[in-house]
Amino acid sequence: MPTNPVLVIHGGAWAIPDDMVEAHLNGVRTAIAAGWRVLDGGGSALDAVEEAVVVMEDDDTFDAGRGSFLNRDGKVQLDALIMDGATLRAGGVGCVERIANPIRAARKILSDSPHVYFVAEGAERFAAEHGIELCKNEDLILPREIERLREFQSRSAGSENDIFSATISHDTVGAVALDQQGNIASATSTGGTLNKAPGRLGDSSLIGCGCYADNKSAAASTTGWGEPIMKLVLAKWAADRVASGSLPEWIAAEAINYLESRLGGHGGMILLDADGNFGIAHNTPRMAWAVKTVNDESSGVRR
Ligand code: ASP
Repeated sequence: MPTNPVLVIHGGAWAIPDDMVEAHLNGVRTAIAAGWRVLDGGGSALDAVEEAVVVMEDDDTFDAGRGSFLNRDGKVQLDALIMDGATLRAGGVGCVERIANPIRAARKILSDSPHVYFVAEGAERFAAEHGIELCKNEDLILPREIERLREFQSRSAGSENDIFSATISHDTVGAVALDQQGNIASATSTGGTLNKAPGRLGDSSLIGCGCYADNKSAAASTTGWGEPIMKLVLAKWAADRVASGSLPEWIAAEAINYLESRLGGHGGMILLDADGNFGIAHNTPRMAWAVKTVNDESSGVRR
């Protein structure tokens, strides 16, 4: 008998201002519809998370794809990872500057390469060789982001610590899915943190940190201040606890508590097991999320 599919997505965890709530809700609702079309049609969890994330990369609201934060040099630098829980195959890109949908490049790596991870020009070359059209970095830059960077850099408060404040946007996007075949998958895509040093890699594209999937444990995607998430290998930390028999709902909350208590970190996580149990947790004022199951659809900016 086919499994009932489940799709959970997030569009970042931070103090999303009131006037940006609607755009975040629209974004996650459009993305969940795109991912659900795949699952409903009998498609794979892997295809579903890819399609959901592409929608959010294309949406200027989020810190992924076009409209991402700029790094210290005023460039967009993108990271993404996708992982298949059935096979443990994964594909990741880091610090790419000329790919509008880095999750598509990550998927090509997963499908067409014996490797897991490509960075910078090598990742762009791999993508181009596999049919992904490269763009100019300027095509990914919005005037809004030029202004945001200028303002940030001119403020004396533009210190290292300010970057990691929960009031600074963490609009990374991610998705976890369970398909009718009973397989789970996850995907995460980001422009990283505002004013980041060129070449800085966040948690989002690192396997087990910002993204992880294994049918025997869980699929996870995180968002938030990347450095503490990396140090705790948080997505794998959570998946391991689900494998030991705990419910994702409980473990997602535990993971975020651990992030805060151990390293003072902030962020959010979505977590899903192959039985369709899921959890959504964050310690930021808001987190954009959406869930769809056969019987239910919901979304919000608080959980
Ligand atoms: N986790 C991402 C990073 O540190 C940022 C975010 O979630 O917004 O690169």
